[in-house]
Order: sequence, then C-alpha cells, then structure tokens
Amino acid sequence: MFVMTWSAIVGTIAALCTTLAFWPQLLKVRRQGGAGLSWSMLSMYLAGQFLWLLYGVLNDARAVIAANLASIVLVSAIVILKVRADRRPVRRRLRIAIDMDEVMADALAEHVRRYNAAFGAQLTIADLHGRSLEGHVPAAHRAATEALLDASFFRDLAVMADCQDVIRDLAGRHDVFVVTAAMDVPVSFDAKYQWLQEHFPFIPPSRFVFCGDKGLIDADYLIDDRSRHFDRFKGRPLLYSAPHNAAETRYPRVGSWAEIRALFANVDGAGAAGHGAAGSSRWLQPRERSL
Ligand SMILES: [Mg+2]
Repeated sequence: MFVMTWSAIVGTIAALCTTLAFWPQLLKVRRQGGAGLSWSMLSMYLAGQFLWLLYGVLNDARAVIAANLASIVLVSAIVILKVRADRRPVRRRLRIAIDMDEVMADALAEHVRRYNAAFGAQLTIADLHGRSLEGHVPAAHRAATEALLDASFFRDLAVMADCQDVIRDLAGRHDVFVVTAAMDVPVSFDAKYQWLQEHFPFIPPSRFVFCGDKGLIDADYLIDDRSRHFDRFKGRPLLYSAPHNAAETRYPRVGSWAEIRALFANVDGAGAAGHGAAGSSRWLQPRERSL
C-alpha cells in the first residue's frame, strides 16, 4: 500500500507551487507582452531547471524530473511569447495638437467682415497677402480693430472646409488636442469652448488646451498658422497657410484640410510614414517621445 510521508506531501505541494507559479505569468505575457521580464532571470532560471532535471535523472528522482520538465515547458513558452512580442513593432497613437483660429475656425473672414462693417471699408482677404489685418489697417483703426475680437466674436465663426471630417478621422486613429493661444484674447474662453462643443463634439473637453506659450505642448505635431508657436515646440511643425504667413518659408506648410488628410493618410503610431500623398517627407516622422 502506497503511503505518502509528510515530507513527500510537503515536497509535492512545493513542486506544484513552484511549477504552476509560471502559469499566470504565461497568461500575462500572452495578453500584455513580456517587456517587463528580464532576459537574465529567464535564462538563469531555465539553466537551473535543466540542471535540476539532470540531477533528477542521475538520482532517479522521478518527482524532480516531472516537476522540472513541466517548469521547462512553461518557461520556454514564456520565452517564445516574449521573443514574439519584442519583435512586434511598437504602435502607439500619435499626439496631434491643432490650433483653432485660422486653422479650424475661419476667424479672419469674420474679422474682415466686422472691420468693413465698423469702418465702411471694402477690404478683402486678398488685400491681406503677406500681412495681418492689424498690420494692414490705418494706425488710427488699429486699437478698434483689435477690440473687434470681443466675447461674441469667437462663438459663430465658420468651420474651415473639410476640417470636421478630417479631424474626426484623425481623432479615431490618433490623440488629437485642440491647442489655442486663448490668453491672447482672455474674453474668448467661453465662446471658444461653446464653439468646440457644437462643431467638434467628438473631441472630449479634456483635450481642449487654452494656453499662452505653446512651447510647453508635448505633442508629435503642431498644426498652426502662427509660426511663432513653433519657436519652442519640440515636435514637428506644420504651418497652415493663411494670408499673414505667406512669406514664411522655414516650415512645411499645408493649404487645406484635404492636404492634411492626405499627409497623415499613411502615418501610423509606429512612425511608418508613407510617401504617397501630399509630399510626406522626413519631417513627418514623429520624434522619439517617452509616454
Ligand atoms: Mg491661429
């Protein structure tokens, strides 16, 4: 009659615990990859198990042989999953920061309309090629022109053509943030918030950034019509064409949201920018950024 001694019972339970301990680890590596597992630990552990297996064979210790064979199978499976996960390209969502005025919202058209109404002028957008509205109007009108940017100004601006569709698409694949230098016109906060909620309900308010200095924005790309915001920005700048920036040559530019759609069509989180549409080029490669 087979009778297990206490020492045999303790040894069997110990062997089951140390062997099966790798089962939850195997499931975790299968789900999440094995980035947190040390190669040194795995190789030393496997070497130890092979030596225990050899010990079991030399001493005809069947329990030792069985326990270590099972452990070797489990740890080898973990190693295989880790190798596969490590070879898989890391794909992450890009972070794209987008300016509001003259990029998402047609602020210039409204400003010109209000200026013409206030001063009985016939100014057109074409008249502003290479300069700002404030820079173009007579000095006597300058303060009044700036004062046109009141609390109501930003509430009913027209949305730029294709902007909603392209941003909806980008937001589905990447992390999109609306980044506006609202500190330039502090009374604009509420109107800008309402405008974004009405026209871009698919962007959560937690991704609205009302700021002054865009140099603190940690994003892969900044799409903006004001090149001064690129001075201290550490990601990739993309200048959105506007009459006032016509002479700017330092940055890659786009003239429409259709161009932006084409530019980002083949960009993914792994940084594999395509080379098909709208001049995808080296600048489009996202910089390395720790998340
Ligand atoms: Mg702007």
